[in-house]
Amino acid sequence: MKYLKQLKNKNLSKEICLLRIDLNIQNEDLRGIKNGLKQAIPFRIKAILPTIKFLIDRGARVVILSHRGRPNPPKLGDYKPQITNYKELTLKPFVGIFSKLLKQKVIFADLNSINTTKIKNSKPGSIFLLENLRFFKGEEENNAAFAEKLAKLGTFYVNDAFAVSHRKNASVAAITKFLPSYAGFQLEKEIENLTAVMKKPKKPLIIVMGGAKISDKIGLIKNFVKKTDAFLTGGGIANTFLAALGMPVGESLYEKNMIPEARKILKEAPKKIFLPIDFVLDKKKILDIGPKTAELYSKKIQSAKTIIWNGPMGKFEDKKFAQGTYKIAKAILQNKKAKIIIGGGETLASLQTKNYKLQINVFLSTGGGAMLEYLSGLKLPGIESLK
Ligand code: ADP
Ligand code: MG
Repeated sequence: MKYLKQLKNKNLSKEICLLRIDLNIQNEDLRGIKNGLKQAIPFRIKAILPTIKFLIDRGARVVILSHRGRPNPPKLGDYKPQITNYKELTLKPFVGIFSKLLKQKVIFADLNSINTTKIKNSKPGSIFLLENLRFFKGEEENNAAFAEKLAKLGTFYVNDAFAVSHRKNASVAAITKFLPSYAGFQLEKEIENLTAVMKKPKKPLIIVMGGAKISDKIGLIKNFVKKTDAFLTGGGIANTFLAALGMPVGESLYEKNMIPEARKILKEAPKKIFLPIDFVLDKKKILDIGPKTAELYSKKIQSAKTIIWNGPMGKFEDKKFAQGTYKIAKAILQNKKAKIIIGGGETLASLQTKNYKLQINVFLSTGGGAMLEYLSGLKLPGIESLK
């Protein structure tokens, strides 16, 4: 696999880089940054700025490729269909955001109207942003002709969109057939950090796992059940295990159809799965882990040399049910000896609301689903196609 850093000493002023990044961020999460709040820069944007700067510093013209949401265009070949929720899904808001962050003009372009001469005639270091690629059917179909059409705009390709690398999409997978292709800095860090905890994690390895659906995370659990010393569970994950043990979970969030799987895992590693011993309830619902559980988990976390955390311990969006998640976050971040990997959309959101200072032993993954798949031992199309 080729890495972007290999171009460190190159002059790129004759090159056009097609840079795939992940701008799948909702308008409401962009409000803070639009109002000029530096601390509100979404983590996913912050994470790819070094890659963009590296490219423009070396004179490359950069064409940013991304998608947003699920426009789900009807089968219309290459033609742009009518997009009903266009306002939520257009990438236009990022023009202002990137020009502010990079202190230069960003040119918005549409695949149907952009022309290569315009890119070539722009100044070295110019930045173009292409409209949402999922407005075209070819993107999600990993269509070769669509990928080739994209590829014709540039002279090389960089993938710095780890969060989309589990998708076999044209701008992530098929495009690499047509251009010299590299992994960007964030993608490289993701591979390095996630591989390290998979291959030779320092023990004890503790996995903290909460969130909504055990079905999303079962692959990771299975892949780590032998390697890990403990799973500390919360949220819907814990509820499903509790239900599997025949405990009453009332109307709590859990997955009934996953009970057989949960039973299998409990049977395979009964001593490794830790379940909450007290709860914060609302009517008949378990909505957070209780203080005793948080204390018990925090002690375990202190002893870890490797920690993987995915999924909040409770319904943290509501302050009344956020304490468990905050206590666990604090315990994890206080462990300065451990290598720590944290990922998941809501998990990172729970960290951002508290604005924690992160030490260098902490790696935040930009991938939600992609991280789960990677840690399940699956091969991601976006990474494989760079090889
Ligand atoms: P991540 O995106 O970090 O992987 P998930 O998507 O798996 O996390 O789950 C996050 C969601 O799970 C949050 O919106 C949170 O409110 C919800 N959640 C966690 N625990 C509970 C619970 N006990 N009851 C209801 N919702 C919960
Ligand atoms: Mg989520």
